[in-house]
Amino acid sequence: MALRSVETTTPAETEALGGELAALLDDGAVVLLRGDLGAGKTTLVRGAARALGVKEPITSPTFSIAHRYRTEEGTTVSHLDLYRLQGLEQEEPELLEDYLGQGGVAFVEWPQDGAPELAGASLQVTLSHAGEDRRRILIEDLLHSHDLNLQGGPTR
Ligand code: ADP
Ligand code: MG
Repeated sequence: MALRSVETTTPAETEALGGELAALLDDGAVVLLRGDLGAGKTTLVRGAARALGVKEPITSPTFSIAHRYRTEEGTTVSHLDLYRLQGLEQEEPELLEDYLGQGGVAFVEWPQDGAPELAGASLQVTLSHAGEDRRRILIEDLLHSHDLNLQGGPTR
């Protein structure tokens, strides 16, 4: 499983990393984002959505659970935050299905362990605080074992 660890020191750097990751995604791709509150999950998704051609402001879907954006090419970028579903039995299995699938890509913050809809996710990004504005960001390619082609250099 390909792994890459990157450190960013500003929100802009995390957004730029999101843009790089966006370029790796195939149609229907699902990206899982893990990490504490404030680690930068939404910031990374913002950069990815921008790079994919979303023009609207990208805001946290914490209270609404999901946002769906449309790119100028007509594809969708779904952004889910399942924090409020944590610890609950999955109440609405169709919720995930609605947002995942062909015609776009999806980013899922606080993914539930064991949700079958998330089993085919292609990337997992784990962000952690590393002091002040530093963030350590671990990117795992869940589908391929080849090296991730990112600017951050080899895994360190
Ligand atoms: P999450 O979605 O993980 O809860 P957010 O992306 O909403 O996190 O918030 C991250 C917060 O941390 C923002 O206020 C952002 O400006 C700040 N921040 C500071 N440094 C960084 C960094 N290197 N990368 C991402 N966010 C950062
Ligand atoms: Mg968030």
